[in-house]
Amino acid sequence: MGAKASLRVRIYALGLLQTIVVLGGFALLLRLSQVASPEAMRDQEHALAAAVEADLDDAVAVQRHLDGALEKHELEAEVLDEGGVPVASTVVDVHVPCVELMRPQPLGVDGRVPHRGPPGGAPPPGAGPPPPGGGPPHPPRPPTVEESGPFPGSPRVFCYALPLSAAGAKIVFRRDMPDLVTPFGPEVIGLTLLVVALVSWLLLRTVVKPLRRLGDAATAFGAGDLDARTNIVRADEFGDVAAAFDTMAQRIADLVRGERELIANISHELRTPLARIRVALDLATESGSQEAVQASLADVVEDLDELEQLVADVLDSARPLLESAGAPGTPTLHVTALDAEVNLRASVERFSRLYPDRSLDARLISVPIRGDKVLLRRMVDNLLDNAQKFSDGPVALTMRFDENALLVVIEDRGIGIASGDLERVFRPFFRTDKSRARKTGGTGLGLGLARRIAEAHGGTLTLDSTLGEGTRVYVRLPVHVSDC
Ligand code: ATP
Ligand code: MG
Repeated sequence: MGAKASLRVRIYALGLLQTIVVLGGFALLLRLSQVASPEAMRDQEHALAAAVEADLDDAVAVQRHLDGALEKHELEAEVLDEGGVPVASTVVDVHVPCVELMRPQPLGVDGRVPHRGPPGGAPPPGAGPPPPGGGPPHPPRPPTVEESGPFPGSPRVFCYALPLSAAGAKIVFRRDMPDLVTPFGPEVIGLTLLVVALVSWLLLRTVVKPLRRLGDAATAFGAGDLDARTNIVRADEFGDVAAAFDTMAQRIADLVRGERELIANISHELRTPLARIRVALDLATESGSQEAVQASLADVVEDLDELEQLVADVLDSARPLLESAGAPGTPTLHVTALDAEVNLRASVERFSRLYPDRSLDARLISVPIRGDKVLLRRMVDNLLDNAQKFSDGPVALTMRFDENALLVVIEDRGIGIASGDLERVFRPFFRTDKSRARKTGGTGLGLGLARRIAEAHGGTLTLDSTLGEGTRVYVRLPVHVSDC
């Protein structure tokens, strides 16, 4: 829960940070575009002063100059005559009276109104005004430039006065530093927080929802529900993770179910001979006759043989599986270079020895392979045993090269396997109904073991069978020419 909350907070904080950075950059740009440079402002003022100077006798012309400056540069100005009386003005807001301030008044010791800091810095005393817009230079002015501002209570208003040629006349400028428009009003901030919260919530829904389903599925699976899956279908990373989880869960579920089935089957198979042993021993104890005891003991020995064989088969079934699960590249089998013909001939000879009245048509060729001699023999023996057990007619074993692999085919014309059972016969202890009816006595481990041996050697084992017609087993093994 804590982790989920922290994810929420992180997503929200990240969204907020991004928004602040974007809005901050936007405000900075706005501010830069709003503020005219102090030099440009000074140029405008001096240009207006020069124009007024030229037409000082013509009050109408002076007013026109002032109007033009107001319209063009939002520059408010007022021209005062020698007595300090306004002759022309474009000052709209009289709240901050620049003119009052700039009327003749007691000067400082240096003959200037005390300087309180202009918005763009004052020209040095005695310096003429810079030419407006790069035009011809204005005549140098006496060092009586007066500046004022900001005003107490109106910190954005600055006043600036320049003397005109008529003694005592001056032009007074009034500049309002523009009110900077920032996007950070309370409404905007509120809206921003709301939008970020909304976006974060949407983002959270897409992130947290699949995570929660993944977490729920993992918890349920861990608690033993082997059917728990995320069932998330998405074309993004969450979809990939969920699909990987579902595949993994399916594999584990199959393994666990296989194990359970195996244990159930082993228990079942062990119980039959054990029950027979008990019956035989009971009979021996009750009858008391020497022959009966001997007969019972013979039965017990037979059942013990069966038990031994069963345990050996179970261990063999597990062995290649465990070995092939080892680290990649680790030689887990006892692999040597072999001639497959030699190996298979041993199986053929065993078959003839065990089943002298059965015909086996063996066509062998010399093929170099690498493998575990004992396990490969066990595989072929099992397959030949099956062919013999589940048929009455001849059995055939052929070897041939097939696409750089060795293909061994073992064929019989026996009872065959129904198509629905073709994959099931590889499961431990599975026996088809027909084969049970024949009372062949197998435990149902040989075929699965044979396939695992083939796969442990990098090969395959497949079946082709028709019920009532016969079976073909194909074993494909890689050929190692360099080992010849
Ligand atoms: P085991 O080999 O452990 O002694 P088994 O022969 O019964 O016992 P598998 O070799 O694993 O067991 O075979 C499993 C089942 O597949 C058999 O019981 C039989 O039903 C079927 N089967 C295998 N080979 C053939 C075959 N050649 N023809 C018909 N059915 C077969
Ligand atoms: Mg078998």
